[in-house]
Amino acid sequence: MDFLPINKTDLKARGWDELDVIIVSADAYVDHPAWAAAILGRYLEHYGYRVGIIAQPDWRNLDDIKSLGQPRLFFAISGGNMDSMVNHYTADKKRRREDMYSPGGKTGLRPDRPTIVYSNLVRQAYPGVPVVIGGVEASMRRLAHYDYWGDRVRRSILLDSRADLLVYGMGEHNLLEIARRLKGGQDIAYLRNLRGTCYLSLNMPENALVLPSFEEVERDGKDFARATKMIQEEINPYSARPLVQKHGERWLVQNPPSLPLSSQQLDEIYELSFARRSHPSYEAWGGVPGLRPVQFSIVTHRGCFGGCAFCSLGQHQGKFIQNRSLLSVVNEARSLTVHPDFKGTIPDVGAPSANMYGLKGFDEKLCRQCKRSSCLIPKVCENLDTDHMPSVELWQKLRAIKGIKHCFVSSGVRYDLVLRDTSRRYLRDLCNYHVSGQLKIAPEHVAEKVTRNMHKPGKSEYLRFIQAFKEINQVLDKDQYLIPYFISAHPGCDLQDTLELAEFVRDNLQYYPEQVQNFTPTPMTASTCMYYTGINPYNGKKIYVPSGEKERRWQRALLQYRNKKNQDLVREALQACGREDMIGAGSLCLVKEKRITERKTGNKPVKKR
Ligand code: SF4
Repeated sequence: MDFLPINKTDLKARGWDELDVIIVSADAYVDHPAWAAAILGRYLEHYGYRVGIIAQPDWRNLDDIKSLGQPRLFFAISGGNMDSMVNHYTADKKRRREDMYSPGGKTGLRPDRPTIVYSNLVRQAYPGVPVVIGGVEASMRRLAHYDYWGDRVRRSILLDSRADLLVYGMGEHNLLEIARRLKGGQDIAYLRNLRGTCYLSLNMPENALVLPSFEEVERDGKDFARATKMIQEEINPYSARPLVQKHGERWLVQNPPSLPLSSQQLDEIYELSFARRSHPSYEAWGGVPGLRPVQFSIVTHRGCFGGCAFCSLGQHQGKFIQNRSLLSVVNEARSLTVHPDFKGTIPDVGAPSANMYGLKGFDEKLCRQCKRSSCLIPKVCENLDTDHMPSVELWQKLRAIKGIKHCFVSSGVRYDLVLRDTSRRYLRDLCNYHVSGQLKIAPEHVAEKVTRNMHKPGKSEYLRFIQAFKEINQVLDKDQYLIPYFISAHPGCDLQDTLELAEFVRDNLQYYPEQVQNFTPTPMTASTCMYYTGINPYNGKKIYVPSGEKERRWQRALLQYRNKKNQDLVREALQACGREDMIGAGSLCLVKEKRITERKTGNKPVKKR
């Protein structure tokens, strides 16, 4: 199938001399529904717009940005599937060696902060042409935010990019509406009433909730924490008010979030035709590595009501689950069976939390007024219908499709929700048919005060799930493992808490955790506020922050104490928290004593025999 045009030759082949919309993306062009540029481009194309893609333009001159000419309506600019600073740097601010969203995994094909860089390039190349920014980077930097990599509070990205409009969240409908209105002759400067957008103005709208200004949150951590709480409380699209935040003389206005899409609307998006391949121009590079794990994955829904403090998904995709219809998912699975690259395995059918498919409140009127950021914490809301049958029925249909040998669930599952299904039907079918030997879960921690700050379920639920998983697999006579993800150095977590988790790992897990990440303060999350201000925005209380490099390294090493490379760090950490008793050869010790490798007299190391 044809890819969207990426150069003038493609335009000529289609008999076009100009485009309506040009999407500029910091990711390579992969024609797959998991790539924002592809899904937006295909959606606009479906409605008759002429769309082209400029992927990873050279930002050192204007040649690439001018390669498709001037669009008739607007430029749409995205920093790609993830924030560029997360893409470029590790949690310890070291440069990454691979870029999964670039051809051949090559690094250096995008600048830091591409949304700002590309937008300014467009301004320079085509003054007066409307510029709309969107994607994760723009979404999560839409208001004044803490930037971990620069270690400072930055103003809204809308000011630095000099764009006309910022679309936050999943932007298909907004982009289409913008295209329609601009085509109808409306000036982008008057496009002020679209949900899910931000703009700059000298006036503030009626009913707006005034956040502490950029200058205030930059100056005072308490104001920053207050602003974070207010933002977190206004994510319900049915009851949220516009938020305004002064930057100098101007107001940054955030309109309320977009309303959740209906199943019909979501189906329409995912039923568009995608090649499910990298653009052929990347063949010499062996394609784009980020495609491989998801090439034949299926997205069943959007949104998450978990409200984890370190996650921005609720702020981006929304708190309410937007489901695709069963028929649409099944049709997509059928279409995969005729794809020339398909070998019979769907590696993932799910979404951020796979088992939220089809879940919603019993009384939706209550949900529309609700201000809780999580439906699960501090305990599962009584109004939440946790019947897991929508997933079970979907899987049944998928398993019946000829040509599909395996259909796995690789997305995480919320085990506190799985435990609510007392029939164990979900867990049994999951383990029986949809786990490829290992099931990923994300307890993140077990120390009570840490999980409370993270907004995660506690240790007892985790243990209950381990037990339930074990029992089901015994009944099914299967040898399968849980793969837990843990976060070290989260705000509120000290060395004693980390030690508690290390001991839990030692005593309870069959599988040694490879998946340990130091906490990364990404823009706009509650945890990032805790990290930056030392204040928990939910209760206004002070919180301990393990921000020094040494402690961050110690915490991670303690959780991976069996890794030989970590042994010195583990010893140091245990000494620092007064637990030398855990150094030695005893069965409860985490690390052995350091071997003396030097002669008592003289400095020469003893040679190994
Ligand atoms: S009422 Fe309960 S189920 Fe509905 S949104 Fe609020 S917490 Fe979630």
